[in-house]
Amino acid sequence: MRIPKAIQSVIESFERLPGVGPKTAQRLTFYLLHVPQGQLDSFARSLENLKKNTVLCSVCFTVDETDPCSICCDPQRDTSLICVVEQALDVLALEKNGKYKGIYHVLHGKIDPLNNIGPDEIYLRQLIERVKGKGESVKEIILATNPTMEGEGTAMYIAKKIKEIGSDVKVTRIGRGLPIGADLEYADEVTLQRAMEGRSEY
Ligand SMILES: [Zn+2]
Repeated sequence: MRIPKAIQSVIESFERLPGVGPKTAQRLTFYLLHVPQGQLDSFARSLENLKKNTVLCSVCFTVDETDPCSICCDPQRDTSLICVVEQALDVLALEKNGKYKGIYHVLHGKIDPLNNIGPDEIYLRQLIERVKGKGESVKEIILATNPTMEGEGTAMYIAKKIKEIGSDVKVTRIGRGLPIGADLEYADEVTLQRAMEGRSEY
């Protein structure tokens, strides 16, 4: 039996998602066949609007509905403190407990030579520009990239770059309590908070 085109196309779309294999893609697709049309329509609409109704903040490059984002616009935030993370999801993780009062910089990736991702493929140059600073007076950069090999490498590279421009910005690295090889987004709030408090000069 040949799989109908409409089904095959959904299976293929699911397969392109990270962590979804062919079996799961098939299972999800056939599950959707049992979902009422109204629910499917609203699912399709949310997908359609996902990128249309969001925008990258031109200051910190997180994803939000407005540019600049709600964090960059918030007068209560300490703009002298920039926390550098790999992805917008990490901002959500750090925002969950609401203790961090600084602002962010989202790299949208990490330096990963094995996968041909160099410093120019992520929003790293933009961070250096921010530190060089027109308008923003940065005092501390908190490197909160993941404690993986690529995350460490990225942190090291950024620290080096910031020293190179000869700024007296303090560079710190979060760490304590975060399991090596783990992703920030999976850390629980308390661990994340401790890691933030326990940051040390880098
Ligand atoms: Zn922003």
